[in-house]
Amino acid sequence: GAEPVIYPIESLSPYQNKWTIKARVTVKSDVRHWSNQRGDGKLFSVNLLDETGEIKATGFNEAVDNLYDVFEVGKVYYVSKARVNIAKKQFSNLSNEYEIAFERDTIVELCEDQDAAPQVKYNFVELASLGDCPKDSTVDVLGIVKDNGDLSEITAKATNKQIKKRELTIVDRSGYSVRVTLWGRSAETWKDTDNGVFAFKGAKVGDFGGRTLSMGGQSTIAEDPDVEAAHALRGWFDTEGHSSEFTSYNSSMATSGAATFKKDEFKTLDEVINSGIGMTSEKPEYFATRATITFIKADNLSYPACPTEKCNKKMTMEDESQWRCEKCNKTYEKPEYRYIVSIAVNDFTNQVWLSGFNEMGLQLLKRTANEMQQLKDENEEEFQSVINKALGTMYNFSVKAKADSFNDQVKVRYQLQKAAPVNWVEDAKVLAEQIQAMSV
Ligand SMILES: [Zn+2]
Repeated sequence: GAEPVIYPIESLSPYQNKWTIKARVTVKSDVRHWSNQRGDGKLFSVNLLDETGEIKATGFNEAVDNLYDVFEVGKVYYVSKARVNIAKKQFSNLSNEYEIAFERDTIVELCEDQDAAPQVKYNFVELASLGDCPKDSTVDVLGIVKDNGDLSEITAKATNKQIKKRELTIVDRSGYSVRVTLWGRSAETWKDTDNGVFAFKGAKVGDFGGRTLSMGGQSTIAEDPDVEAAHALRGWFDTEGHSSEFTSYNSSMATSGAATFKKDEFKTLDEVINSGIGMTSEKPEYFATRATITFIKADNLSYPACPTEKCNKKMTMEDESQWRCEKCNKTYEKPEYRYIVSIAVNDFTNQVWLSGFNEMGLQLLKRTANEMQQLKDENEEEFQSVINKALGTMYNFSVKAKADSFNDQVKVRYQLQKAAPVNWVEDAKVLAEQIQAMSV
């Protein structure tokens, strides 16, 4: 038949009841049942997307029977004859002022032209940047699933109900790994993947063990989404990412904020220099400091390392496509570049130089050493701009101080152990406590 007049989603309002929208289903919830003093019931919801915006639509009871099986995530539908209400924002992560309620005579028809509505839009956050995202915010992340986790069951404290749970571990090219928890049906129906690329939309940020992600009713998972970032991630992982080491948010490594550093370990840079830490002892000593990167040495940023696992020795070039590792006594076509970063950091008291190995370079520059070497060879300007981008960033650094003697001179070297992005909320609390303590 003739195509009806289509209204854009952004034009829907409670004051206009004759409309048809053409929209793609981006999220479809499970059917949820409730029971209270007023009775029993069930409901489900979908999110609908067109060029102008996104809106949530909910169906209760009879609408569940009529429409739940009609909707398929990713497909485009005509929807008409439904009510537009003020949105209940506490149940939604959409910004729309309104939402749709399906009614008894709501009509939903599959659209013949499946390209007629935009695909899901992602606003990906790198895993290394999760420390900057506040707890309970929602983010989109793109990652390689490195571990599928086991299906487990927990009892929810609030409801005393059993809930299925699965914890995936994902990584991305920022060099970080993070745990993503799936719940209920999506935990149960998850099909184990061997390093598959997945987009997690609307994941909720938790701060347990640094940073974790949790998938809720409004979150979606898409395997191999047809977006450029996903193709780039696949390419990177297959060529070099598979052999990378990743910094975990779970371990004490790089958990974010002051909470994971002991308060009394923190030193200003002046205290670091004047305390002679690392000087007096045979064994290395450790400290934490909050400082801002002011300089990164662009020369000798990395070295050509042996690609053999756990060797990492420096190789020498014999000719264009011949690199030799003395230790392995082997030649390779190309080296695996590894970082040896040297950075100057400042706080309000002083400046010190810190050095770090590959993981630190990955974390601070958010590129692999191979990528940086390639940029240096082919696009000096871009190379410098990646370095400049890392300047001015504040971190909580954990540092190993150890004395080195060189020509009878004893000098302390400061070796970076971890760099956690400053968690402004947590650190402000610590600062507030310190101010409180001063004013006794
Ligand atoms: Zn080697």
